[in-house]
Amino acid sequence: LQVIGAVEPRVAEAIGAELADQRASLKLIASENYASPAVLLTMGNWFSDKYAEGTVGHRFYAGCQNVDTVEALAAEHARELFGAPYAYVQPHSGIDANLVAFWAVLAQRVELPALEKAGATHVNDLTAEDWTTLRRALGDQRMLGMSLDAGGHLTHGFRPNISGKMFEQSSYGTDPKTGLLDYALVRERAKEFRPLILMAGYSAYPRRVDFAAMREIADEVGATLVVDMAHFAGLVAGKVLTGDFDPVPHAHVVTTTTHKSLRGPRGGMVLAQPEFADAVDRGCPMVLGGPLPHVMAAKAVALAEARQPAFAGYARAVADNAQSLAEGLTSRGATLVTGGTDNHIVLIDVTSFGLTGRQAESALLDAGIVTNRNSVPADPNGAWYTSGVRIGTPALTTRGFGAAEFDRTAELIVDVLSGTTPTATQDGGSSRARYAMADGLAGRTRAAAAEL
Ligand code: PLP
Repeated sequence: LQVIGAVEPRVAEAIGAELADQRASLKLIASENYASPAVLLTMGNWFSDKYAEGTVGHRFYAGCQNVDTVEALAAEHARELFGAPYAYVQPHSGIDANLVAFWAVLAQRVELPALEKAGATHVNDLTAEDWTTLRRALGDQRMLGMSLDAGGHLTHGFRPNISGKMFEQSSYGTDPKTGLLDYALVRERAKEFRPLILMAGYSAYPRRVDFAAMREIADEVGATLVVDMAHFAGLVAGKVLTGDFDPVPHAHVVTTTTHKSLRGPRGGMVLAQPEFADAVDRGCPMVLGGPLPHVMAAKAVALAEARQPAFAGYARAVADNAQSLAEGLTSRGATLVTGGTDNHIVLIDVTSFGLTGRQAESALLDAGIVTNRNSVPADPNGAWYTSGVRIGTPALTTRGFGAAEFDRTAELIVDVLSGTTPTATQDGGSSRARYAMADGLAGRTRAAAAEL
Protein backbone atom coordinates (compact mmCIF):
# COMPACT_ATOMS: atom_id res chain seq x y z
CA LEU A 1 0.00 0.00 0.00
CA GLN A 2 2.95 2.32 0.61
CA VAL A 3 4.09 1.92 -3.00
CA ILE A 4 0.59 2.63 -4.32
CA GLY A 5 0.03 5.44 -1.82
CA ALA A 6 3.13 7.26 -3.00
CA VAL A 7 1.44 7.64 -6.40
CA GLU A 8 -2.27 7.98 -5.59
CA PRO A 9 -2.97 7.90 -1.85
CA ARG A 10 -6.74 7.79 -2.36
CA VAL A 11 -6.46 4.43 -4.13
CA ALA A 12 -4.26 3.04 -1.35
CA GLU A 13 -6.80 4.28 1.18
CA ALA A 14 -9.69 2.68 -0.73
CA ILE A 15 -7.85 -0.65 -0.85
CA GLY A 16 -7.23 -0.51 2.89
CA ALA A 17 -10.85 0.46 3.52
CA GLU A 18 -12.07 -2.45 1.37
CA LEU A 19 -10.03 -4.91 3.43
CA ALA A 20 -11.38 -3.39 6.66
CA ASP A 21 -14.99 -3.51 5.36
CA GLN A 22 -14.65 -7.12 4.22
CA ARG A 23 -13.24 -8.04 7.65
CA ALA A 24 -15.87 -6.20 9.64
CA SER A 25 -18.94 -7.48 7.81
CA LEU A 26 -20.42 -10.86 7.00
CA LYS A 27 -19.90 -11.44 3.29
CA LEU A 28 -22.92 -13.48 2.21
CA ILE A 29 -23.11 -12.53 -1.46
CA ALA A 30 -23.50 -15.90 -3.16
CA SER A 31 -21.18 -15.01 -6.06
CA GLU A 32 -18.29 -13.75 -3.92
CA ASN A 33 -15.43 -15.46 -2.14
CA TYR A 34 -11.96 -14.82 -0.73
CA ALA A 35 -9.19 -15.88 -3.12
CA SER A 36 -6.00 -17.13 -1.50
CA PRO A 37 -2.92 -14.88 -1.13
CA ALA A 38 -1.21 -17.06 -3.78
CA VAL A 39 -3.99 -16.29 -6.26
CA LEU A 40 -4.02 -12.57 -5.42
CA LEU A 41 -0.24 -12.24 -5.70
CA THR A 42 -0.18 -14.08 -9.04
CA MET A 43 -2.36 -11.31 -10.48
CA GLY A 44 -0.03 -8.46 -9.52
CA ASN A 45 3.08 -8.97 -11.65
CA TRP A 46 4.81 -8.48 -15.00
CA PHE A 47 2.53 -10.84 -16.92
CA SER A 48 0.07 -7.96 -16.87
CA ASP A 49 2.32 -6.09 -19.33
CA LYS A 50 2.33 -8.77 -22.03
CA TYR A 51 0.28 -9.03 -25.21
CA ALA A 52 -0.50 -12.60 -26.31
CA GLU A 53 -3.32 -12.78 -28.84
CA GLY A 54 -3.67 -16.24 -30.31
CA THR A 55 -3.46 -19.62 -28.63
CA VAL A 56 -0.67 -21.60 -26.98
CA GLY A 57 2.21 -21.99 -29.48
CA HIS A 58 0.31 -19.99 -32.09
CA ARG A 59 0.54 -16.29 -31.18
CA PHE A 60 0.28 -13.09 -33.14
CA TYR A 61 3.03 -11.54 -30.95
CA ALA A 62 6.63 -12.55 -30.31
CA GLY A 63 8.00 -13.47 -26.91
CA CYS A 64 4.97 -15.33 -25.57
CA GLN A 65 6.85 -18.38 -24.29
CA ASN A 66 6.07 -17.68 -20.61
CA VAL A 67 2.44 -16.88 -21.34
CA ASP A 68 2.29 -20.19 -23.21
CA THR A 69 3.52 -21.92 -20.05
CA VAL A 70 0.83 -20.46 -17.78
CA GLU A 71 -2.02 -20.70 -20.28
CA ALA A 72 -1.19 -24.37 -20.98
CA LEU A 73 -0.95 -25.07 -17.24
CA ALA A 74 -4.29 -23.43 -16.48
CA ALA A 75 -5.97 -25.39 -19.28
CA GLU A 76 -4.36 -28.66 -18.13
CA HIS A 77 -5.49 -28.12 -14.52
CA ALA A 78 -9.01 -27.28 -15.75
CA ARG A 79 -9.20 -30.42 -17.92
CA GLU A 80 -7.95 -32.64 -15.10
CA LEU A 81 -10.08 -31.03 -12.41
CA PHE A 82 -13.34 -31.23 -14.34
CA GLY A 83 -12.61 -34.28 -16.50
CA ALA A 84 -13.17 -32.18 -19.61
CA PRO A 85 -11.67 -33.02 -23.01
CA TYR A 86 -10.88 -29.36 -23.75
CA ALA A 87 -10.53 -26.10 -21.78
CA TYR A 88 -10.18 -22.47 -22.91
CA VAL A 89 -8.96 -20.19 -20.13
CA GLN A 90 -8.80 -16.82 -21.90
CA PRO A 91 -12.28 -15.35 -21.20
CA HIS A 92 -11.97 -12.24 -19.05
CA SER A 93 -15.24 -12.81 -17.23
CA GLY A 94 -18.37 -14.96 -17.15
CA ILE A 95 -20.17 -12.86 -19.72
CA ASP A 96 -17.17 -13.25 -22.05
CA ALA A 97 -17.11 -17.02 -21.52
CA ASN A 98 -20.77 -17.17 -22.52
CA LEU A 99 -20.14 -15.04 -25.60
CA VAL A 100 -17.27 -17.32 -26.64
CA ALA A 101 -19.53 -20.35 -26.17
CA PHE A 102 -22.45 -18.84 -28.08
CA TRP A 103 -20.25 -17.85 -31.02
CA ALA A 104 -18.63 -21.27 -31.01
CA VAL A 105 -22.04 -22.93 -31.30
CA LEU A 106 -23.05 -20.51 -34.05
CA ALA A 107 -19.76 -21.15 -35.85
CA GLN A 108 -20.06 -24.90 -35.58
CA ARG A 109 -23.75 -25.31 -36.25
CA VAL A 110 -24.55 -22.42 -38.63
CA GLU A 111 -21.38 -20.93 -40.12
CA LEU A 112 -19.55 -24.18 -40.90
CA PRO A 113 -22.48 -25.79 -42.78
CA ALA A 114 -22.95 -22.52 -44.71
CA LEU A 115 -19.27 -22.43 -45.67
CA GLU A 116 -19.40 -26.07 -46.77
CA LYS A 117 -22.49 -25.36 -48.84
CA ALA A 118 -20.77 -22.43 -50.55
CA GLY A 119 -17.60 -24.51 -51.12
CA ALA A 120 -15.58 -22.02 -49.03
CA THR A 121 -13.20 -22.58 -46.13
CA HIS A 122 -13.27 -19.08 -44.59
CA VAL A 123 -15.87 -16.32 -44.38
CA ASN A 124 -13.51 -14.06 -46.37
CA ASP A 125 -13.87 -16.45 -49.34
CA LEU A 126 -17.66 -16.05 -49.49
CA THR A 127 -19.32 -13.98 -52.18
CA ALA A 128 -21.06 -10.84 -50.93
CA GLU A 129 -24.39 -12.54 -51.50
CA ASP A 130 -23.42 -15.70 -49.57
CA TRP A 131 -22.07 -13.55 -46.74
CA THR A 132 -25.37 -11.66 -46.49
CA THR A 133 -27.26 -14.96 -46.34
CA LEU A 134 -24.90 -16.28 -43.66
CA ARG A 135 -25.16 -13.10 -41.55
CA ARG A 136 -28.95 -13.36 -41.65
CA ALA A 137 -28.80 -17.04 -40.68
CA LEU A 138 -26.44 -16.24 -37.77
CA GLY A 139 -28.84 -13.60 -36.51
CA ASP A 140 -31.89 -15.80 -36.82
CA GLN A 141 -31.27 -18.35 -34.08
CA ARG A 142 -33.06 -19.26 -30.89
CA MET A 143 -32.02 -19.79 -27.29
CA LEU A 144 -34.09 -21.34 -24.52
CA GLY A 145 -32.95 -20.55 -20.98
CA MET A 146 -34.17 -20.33 -17.41
CA SER A 147 -36.33 -17.28 -16.73
CA LEU A 148 -34.76 -14.49 -14.71
CA ASP A 149 -37.27 -14.67 -11.88
CA ALA A 150 -36.66 -18.42 -11.54
CA GLY A 151 -32.92 -17.71 -11.15
CA GLY A 152 -31.59 -17.55 -14.73
CA HIS A 153 -28.87 -15.09 -15.74
CA LEU A 154 -29.02 -12.00 -17.97
CA THR A 155 -26.44 -13.48 -20.32
CA HIS A 156 -28.81 -16.35 -21.16
CA GLY A 157 -30.60 -14.40 -23.88
CA PHE A 158 -32.16 -11.47 -22.02
CA ARG A 159 -32.63 -8.05 -23.52
CA PRO A 160 -30.25 -5.96 -21.41
CA ASN A 161 -27.42 -8.28 -22.53
CA ILE A 162 -26.03 -8.73 -26.04
CA SER A 163 -27.21 -12.38 -25.97
CA GLY A 164 -30.79 -11.08 -26.06
CA LYS A 165 -29.97 -9.21 -29.24
CA MET A 166 -28.15 -12.18 -30.81
CA PHE A 167 -30.93 -14.69 -30.16
CA GLU A 168 -34.66 -14.91 -30.15
CA GLN A 169 -35.13 -16.01 -26.56
CA SER A 170 -37.72 -17.98 -24.70
CA SER A 171 -37.65 -19.13 -21.10
CA TYR A 172 -38.60 -22.03 -18.92
CA GLY A 173 -39.54 -21.35 -15.31
CA THR A 174 -40.10 -23.42 -12.21
CA ASP A 175 -43.18 -25.15 -10.82
CA PRO A 176 -45.25 -22.40 -9.14
CA LYS A 177 -46.14 -24.70 -6.22
CA THR A 178 -42.73 -26.20 -5.40
CA GLY A 179 -40.39 -23.63 -6.96
CA LEU A 180 -38.51 -26.57 -8.50
CA LEU A 181 -37.52 -27.09 -12.13
CA ASP A 182 -40.09 -29.21 -13.93
CA TYR A 183 -38.28 -31.13 -16.68
CA ALA A 184 -41.54 -32.11 -18.39
CA LEU A 185 -42.29 -28.40 -18.83
CA VAL A 186 -38.77 -27.70 -20.11
CA ARG A 187 -39.24 -30.52 -22.65
CA GLU A 188 -42.62 -29.19 -23.75
CA ARG A 189 -41.23 -25.66 -24.17
CA ALA A 190 -38.18 -26.98 -26.08
CA LYS A 191 -40.39 -28.97 -28.44
CA GLU A 192 -42.50 -25.91 -29.20
CA PHE A 193 -39.62 -23.47 -29.52
CA ARG A 194 -36.91 -25.64 -31.17
CA PRO A 195 -33.88 -23.66 -29.95
CA LEU A 196 -30.37 -23.89 -31.40
CA ILE A 197 -29.07 -23.58 -27.82
CA LEU A 198 -30.66 -25.05 -24.72
CA MET A 199 -29.12 -23.08 -21.88
CA ALA A 200 -28.94 -24.47 -18.35
CA GLY A 201 -27.41 -22.96 -15.23
CA TYR A 202 -28.46 -20.16 -12.93
CA SER A 203 -27.43 -17.46 -10.52
CA ALA A 204 -30.24 -17.71 -7.97
CA TYR A 205 -31.76 -21.21 -8.08
CA PRO A 206 -31.09 -22.91 -4.74
CA ARG A 207 -31.24 -26.48 -6.04
CA ARG A 208 -29.32 -28.99 -8.15
CA VAL A 209 -30.09 -29.31 -11.85
CA ASP A 210 -30.34 -32.70 -13.55
CA PHE A 211 -28.06 -32.15 -16.53
CA ALA A 212 -28.56 -35.68 -17.86
CA ALA A 213 -32.26 -34.82 -18.22
CA MET A 214 -31.39 -31.49 -19.87
CA ARG A 215 -29.13 -33.27 -22.37
CA GLU A 216 -31.90 -35.72 -23.23
CA ILE A 217 -34.20 -32.79 -23.95
CA ALA A 218 -31.52 -31.05 -26.05
CA ASP A 219 -31.00 -34.22 -28.09
CA GLU A 220 -34.72 -34.67 -28.64
CA VAL A 221 -35.03 -31.23 -30.23
CA GLY A 222 -31.63 -31.07 -31.94
CA ALA A 223 -30.33 -28.34 -29.62
CA THR A 224 -26.82 -27.82 -28.30
CA LEU A 225 -26.71 -27.96 -24.51
CA VAL A 226 -24.67 -25.12 -23.02
CA VAL A 227 -24.38 -25.13 -19.23
CA ASP A 228 -23.27 -22.01 -17.37
CA MET A 229 -21.89 -23.38 -14.09
CA ALA A 230 -20.49 -20.01 -12.98
CA HIS A 231 -22.18 -20.23 -9.60
CA PHE A 232 -21.62 -23.85 -8.69
CA ALA A 233 -18.28 -24.65 -10.40
CA GLY A 234 -16.68 -25.05 -6.96
CA LEU A 235 -19.25 -27.69 -6.03
CA VAL A 236 -18.52 -29.54 -9.30
CA ALA A 237 -14.76 -29.26 -8.74
CA GLY A 238 -15.15 -30.48 -5.14
CA LYS A 239 -17.30 -33.45 -6.24
CA VAL A 240 -20.37 -32.33 -4.32
CA LEU A 241 -22.32 -32.26 -7.60
CA THR A 242 -21.64 -35.53 -9.37
CA GLY A 243 -23.35 -37.93 -11.80
CA ASP A 244 -26.44 -36.38 -13.37
CA PHE A 245 -25.76 -33.14 -11.48
CA ASP A 246 -22.25 -32.64 -12.92
CA PRO A 247 -22.70 -30.74 -16.20
CA VAL A 248 -19.33 -31.61 -17.73
CA PRO A 249 -20.10 -35.14 -19.01
CA HIS A 250 -23.53 -34.11 -20.27
CA ALA A 251 -23.18 -30.68 -21.89
CA HIS A 252 -21.71 -29.95 -25.30
CA VAL A 253 -20.18 -26.78 -23.87
CA VAL A 254 -19.77 -25.62 -20.27
CA THR A 255 -18.96 -22.05 -19.26
CA THR A 256 -17.95 -20.74 -15.87
CA THR A 257 -16.52 -17.88 -13.92
CA THR A 258 -13.43 -18.62 -11.87
CA HIS A 259 -14.06 -16.24 -8.97
CA LYS A 260 -17.23 -17.49 -7.30
CA SER A 261 -17.43 -20.87 -5.54
CA LEU A 262 -14.28 -21.92 -7.45
CA ARG A 263 -12.36 -19.29 -5.40
CA GLY A 264 -9.99 -18.11 -8.12
CA PRO A 265 -9.25 -14.75 -9.75
CA ARG A 266 -12.03 -12.78 -11.48
CA GLY A 267 -12.36 -14.40 -14.87
CA GLY A 268 -14.08 -16.94 -17.09
CA MET A 269 -13.44 -20.28 -18.74
CA VAL A 270 -15.02 -22.55 -21.34
CA LEU A 271 -14.93 -26.37 -21.31
CA ALA A 272 -16.07 -28.17 -24.42
CA GLN A 273 -16.54 -31.48 -26.15
CA PRO A 274 -13.93 -31.98 -28.89
CA GLU A 275 -16.25 -31.02 -31.77
CA PHE A 276 -16.54 -27.48 -30.39
CA ALA A 277 -12.87 -27.04 -29.43
CA ASP A 278 -11.65 -25.34 -32.62
CA ALA A 279 -14.53 -22.89 -32.62
CA VAL A 280 -14.04 -22.07 -28.92
CA ASP A 281 -10.32 -21.49 -29.57
CA ARG A 282 -11.29 -18.61 -31.84
CA GLY A 283 -12.83 -16.71 -28.90
CA CYS A 284 -9.99 -14.22 -29.32
CA PRO A 285 -10.33 -12.25 -31.59
CA MET A 286 -13.99 -13.17 -32.23
CA VAL A 287 -15.31 -11.63 -29.03
CA LEU A 288 -12.28 -11.24 -26.75
CA GLY A 289 -9.40 -8.80 -26.71
CA GLY A 290 -5.87 -9.92 -25.93
CA PRO A 291 -5.76 -12.42 -23.08
CA LEU A 292 -4.89 -11.33 -19.53
CA PRO A 293 -1.78 -13.44 -18.86
CA HIS A 294 -1.59 -12.42 -15.18
CA VAL A 295 -5.15 -13.65 -14.67
CA MET A 296 -4.54 -16.86 -16.64
CA ALA A 297 -1.54 -17.46 -14.35
CA ALA A 298 -3.77 -16.89 -11.32
CA LYS A 299 -6.35 -19.28 -12.81
CA ALA A 300 -3.61 -21.93 -13.02
CA VAL A 301 -2.79 -21.38 -9.33
CA ALA A 302 -6.46 -21.44 -8.26
CA LEU A 303 -7.17 -24.57 -10.30
CA ALA A 304 -4.09 -26.24 -8.79
CA GLU A 305 -5.51 -25.37 -5.37
CA ALA A 306 -8.88 -26.83 -6.36
CA ARG A 307 -7.16 -30.10 -7.30
CA GLN A 308 -5.86 -30.49 -3.72
CA PRO A 309 -7.90 -32.85 -1.50
CA ALA A 310 -8.61 -29.94 0.89
CA PHE A 311 -10.76 -28.27 -1.76
CA ALA A 312 -13.23 -31.17 -1.77
CA GLY A 313 -13.57 -30.64 1.99
CA TYR A 314 -14.19 -26.95 1.40
CA ALA A 315 -16.86 -27.63 -1.25
CA ARG A 316 -18.61 -30.13 1.03
CA ALA A 317 -18.57 -27.55 3.83
CA VAL A 318 -20.06 -24.90 1.51
CA ALA A 319 -23.04 -27.18 0.82
CA ASP A 320 -23.38 -28.37 4.45
CA ASN A 321 -23.24 -24.79 5.68
CA ALA A 322 -26.00 -23.80 3.26
CA GLN A 323 -28.12 -26.54 4.87
CA SER A 324 -27.35 -25.22 8.36
CA LEU A 325 -28.18 -21.69 7.28
CA ALA A 326 -31.44 -22.80 5.63
CA GLU A 327 -32.47 -24.78 8.72
CA GLY A 328 -31.53 -21.88 10.99
CA LEU A 329 -33.69 -19.54 8.94
CA THR A 330 -36.76 -21.77 8.52
CA SER A 331 -36.74 -22.85 12.16
CA ARG A 332 -36.98 -19.14 13.06
CA GLY A 333 -39.92 -18.59 10.71
CA ALA A 334 -38.32 -17.39 7.44
CA THR A 335 -39.81 -18.56 4.13
CA LEU A 336 -37.32 -19.93 1.61
CA VAL A 337 -37.90 -20.30 -2.12
CA THR A 338 -38.17 -24.09 -2.77
CA GLY A 339 -38.21 -24.58 1.02
CA GLY A 340 -34.46 -25.13 1.29
CA THR A 341 -31.26 -25.66 -0.67
CA ASP A 342 -29.02 -28.34 -2.05
CA ASN A 343 -26.25 -26.11 -3.31
CA HIS A 344 -24.56 -22.98 -1.89
CA ILE A 345 -27.55 -20.62 -2.26
CA VAL A 346 -30.42 -19.80 0.06
CA LEU A 347 -33.13 -17.50 -1.27
CA ILE A 348 -35.33 -15.88 1.39
CA ASP A 349 -38.77 -14.63 0.36
CA VAL A 350 -38.84 -11.51 2.54
CA THR A 351 -42.49 -10.65 1.86
CA SER A 352 -43.36 -12.74 4.92
CA PHE A 353 -41.51 -10.06 6.94
CA GLY A 354 -43.56 -7.38 5.14
CA LEU A 355 -40.47 -6.14 3.30
CA THR A 356 -39.24 -5.80 -0.26
CA GLY A 357 -35.87 -7.23 -1.24
CA ARG A 358 -34.53 -3.69 -1.46
CA GLN A 359 -35.51 -2.88 2.14
CA ALA A 360 -34.22 -6.20 3.44
CA GLU A 361 -30.88 -5.82 1.62
CA SER A 362 -30.41 -2.27 2.96
CA ALA A 363 -31.36 -3.11 6.54
CA LEU A 364 -29.04 -6.12 6.55
CA LEU A 365 -26.23 -3.96 5.19
CA ASP A 366 -26.77 -1.40 7.96
CA ALA A 367 -26.36 -4.32 10.35
CA GLY A 368 -23.07 -5.46 8.75
CA ILE A 369 -24.56 -8.34 6.78
CA VAL A 370 -23.82 -8.05 3.06
CA THR A 371 -26.32 -9.82 0.78
CA ASN A 372 -28.10 -8.91 -2.43
CA ARG A 373 -31.74 -8.48 -3.24
CA ASN A 374 -33.07 -10.89 -5.82
CA SER A 375 -36.29 -11.65 -7.66
CA VAL A 376 -38.36 -14.62 -6.55
CA PRO A 377 -40.53 -16.56 -9.04
CA ALA A 378 -43.48 -14.41 -10.25
CA ASP A 379 -42.09 -11.55 -8.16
CA PRO A 380 -44.82 -9.07 -7.18
CA ASN A 381 -42.25 -6.29 -6.66
CA GLY A 382 -40.49 -6.53 -10.04
CA ALA A 383 -36.78 -6.78 -10.82
CA TRP A 384 -35.69 -3.51 -9.12
CA TYR A 385 -37.28 -3.74 -5.66
CA THR A 386 -37.71 -7.55 -5.72
CA SER A 387 -39.12 -9.75 -2.96
CA GLY A 388 -36.09 -11.86 -2.14
CA VAL A 389 -32.66 -11.79 -0.60
CA ARG A 390 -30.06 -14.17 -1.97
CA ILE A 391 -27.52 -15.56 0.47
CA GLY A 392 -24.52 -17.73 -0.28
CA THR A 393 -22.06 -19.64 1.87
CA PRO A 394 -18.81 -19.79 -0.20
CA ALA A 395 -17.06 -16.72 1.26
CA LEU A 396 -17.76 -17.30 4.94
CA THR A 397 -16.92 -20.99 4.55
CA THR A 398 -13.51 -19.85 3.31
CA ARG A 399 -13.27 -17.77 6.51
CA GLY A 400 -13.78 -21.02 8.46
CA PHE A 401 -17.46 -20.75 9.41
CA GLY A 402 -19.19 -24.03 10.25
CA ALA A 403 -22.69 -25.08 11.31
CA ALA A 404 -22.68 -23.13 14.61
CA GLU A 405 -21.55 -19.87 13.00
CA PHE A 406 -24.11 -20.21 10.20
CA ASP A 407 -26.87 -20.91 12.71
CA ARG A 408 -25.90 -17.72 14.57
CA THR A 409 -25.82 -15.88 11.21
CA ALA A 410 -29.36 -17.12 10.52
CA GLU A 411 -30.44 -15.80 13.93
CA LEU A 412 -28.93 -12.38 13.22
CA ILE A 413 -30.61 -12.23 9.79
CA VAL A 414 -34.04 -13.10 11.19
CA ASP A 415 -33.58 -10.56 14.03
CA VAL A 416 -32.80 -7.81 11.51
CA LEU A 417 -35.67 -8.68 9.17
CA SER A 418 -38.14 -9.00 12.06
CA GLY A 419 -37.02 -5.67 13.51
CA THR A 420 -37.35 -3.74 10.24
CA THR A 421 -40.55 -2.11 8.97
CA PRO A 422 -41.36 -0.28 5.75
CA THR A 423 -41.76 3.48 6.11
CA ALA A 424 -45.21 4.89 5.30
CA THR A 425 -45.43 7.07 2.20
CA GLN A 426 -47.19 10.47 2.19
CA ASP A 427 -50.33 8.97 0.66
CA GLY A 428 -50.56 6.44 3.50
CA GLY A 429 -49.14 3.53 1.46
CA SER A 430 -45.92 1.76 2.24
CA SER A 431 -42.58 2.61 0.63
CA ARG A 432 -40.81 -0.13 -1.30
CA ALA A 433 -37.38 1.40 -0.63
CA ARG A 434 -37.43 3.17 2.74
CA TYR A 435 -37.55 1.41 6.06
CA ALA A 436 -37.00 1.87 9.77
CA MET A 437 -35.07 -0.42 12.09
CA ALA A 438 -35.74 -1.02 15.78
CA ASP A 439 -33.61 1.16 18.08
CA GLY A 440 -30.05 -0.08 18.39
CA LEU A 441 -30.68 -3.14 16.19
CA ALA A 442 -28.14 -2.23 13.49
CA GLY A 443 -25.34 -1.50 15.98
CA ARG A 444 -26.07 -4.56 18.11
CA THR A 445 -26.03 -6.82 15.06
CA ARG A 446 -22.83 -5.26 13.75
CA ALA A 447 -21.12 -5.99 17.06
CA ALA A 448 -22.45 -9.56 17.07
CA ALA A 449 -21.36 -10.10 13.44
CA ALA A 450 -17.87 -8.84 14.23
CA GLU A 451 -17.57 -11.42 17.00
CA LEU A 452 -18.19 -14.32 14.63
N1 PLP B 1 -23.18 -16.44 -15.52
C1 PLP B 1 -23.75 -16.56 -14.31
C2 PLP B 1 -24.63 -17.73 -14.02
C3 PLP B 1 -23.51 -15.58 -13.35
O1 PLP B 1 -24.10 -15.68 -12.15
C4 PLP B 1 -22.67 -14.48 -13.67
C5 PLP B 1 -22.39 -13.40 -12.72
O2 PLP B 1 -23.00 -13.12 -11.78
C6 PLP B 1 -22.12 -14.40 -14.96
C7 PLP B 1 -22.39 -15.41 -15.85
C8 PLP B 1 -21.30 -13.24 -15.38
O3 PLP B 1 -20.04 -13.25 -14.81
P1 PLP B 1 -19.11 -11.96 -14.90
O4 PLP B 1 -19.65 -10.99 -13.92
O5 PLP B 1 -17.75 -12.48 -14.55
O6 PLP B 1 -19.16 -11.46 -16.30
